[in-house]
Amino acid sequence: MNLTNTPIMFHDFHDNNSKPNTQGSVNQDYIYKLIKYIGINNILSPEDYILKYNNNTLNKNHLCLTFDDGLKSQLKIAYPILNEFKIRSFFFIPSTYILNKDKVLESYKHFYMNYYSNVNFYYEDFFNELYRYFDKKKLNILLKNYHYKIIKVMKLKSFYSYQDIQFRLIRNSIISNTLFSKVNKILFKKKKFNYHKINKDKYLNENDLKLIAKENKIGLHSQNHFFNIRKVSYFSQYNEYKNNKKYLSSIINNQAINSLSYPSGVYNYQTVKILKKLKINFAFRNVNKKYHFNYEKQNKNLFVNRNNHIEYNKYL
Ligand SMILES: [Zn+2]
Repeated sequence: MNLTNTPIMFHDFHDNNSKPNTQGSVNQDYIYKLIKYIGINNILSPEDYILKYNNNTLNKNHLCLTFDDGLKSQLKIAYPILNEFKIRSFFFIPSTYILNKDKVLESYKHFYMNYYSNVNFYYEDFFNELYRYFDKKKLNILLKNYHYKIIKVMKLKSFYSYQDIQFRLIRNSIISNTLFSKVNKILFKKKKFNYHKINKDKYLNENDLKLIAKENKIGLHSQNHFFNIRKVSYFSQYNEYKNNKKYLSSIINNQAINSLSYPSGVYNYQTVKILKKLKINFAFRNVNKKYHFNYEKQNKNLFVNRNNHIEYNKYL
């Protein structure tokens, strides 16, 4: 994996003294080690990174840090360390995570980490429940067609198992967000998991956001964080970003909201039109390196690669 001047993506964090909240969650020790490994002078501010990216003047060690999903653990665990080193970063915020705590999109991760001894048992329960609403045979045929894609993703993302990728594929590309939520809510109920209570402490609130915005760059991550925004109409996708921008601009007034990270890394050619209309001029996707489409090549500032921090595990 080539890590050269590719920004790093973070999601969840946990305290040194507690166990991980989710797959891929990291603690304070990890952040210190990572900063030391990269070198503090190589971590650019968002503005500096954007400028150098656009001017083609990044050197091979330059990168910046990005935080997705508006999680409280970012404020509790990562934010104090960023301040200690005077590191400024991007924070990409989905509006409904702040406004509506009645979401299963993060709480299901807490659920499988704390109510199952192994995530595969969660997948088992998930499928058993899913088959009541989605034809098992049809699902298996679809999955068979995805087999080679799953193998390909496994090579790229060595930290995911075959089952992890399969589950994400179903979540992102096969079933609707509504069905995903419905199935999870049934499982929560069966195991008496109070996700409302978890959600209250899981996401940033408006005051947290204002605080983070003082030193950091706040960007879009869509309104609802659909797992596959490609599936929705142009109009819905437009509203996803328009409302997200409107909301963030209404509570943050020390900066222009003009950057974005694609929810689940997903986009299509319509996204480009939408982002231009909304004056978004810098957008991150999941690491890809290559431009697969002309619209990506022609708008390289809307397809900036990012690595998952997990790619650094082997160096720390
Ligand atoms: Zn996200």
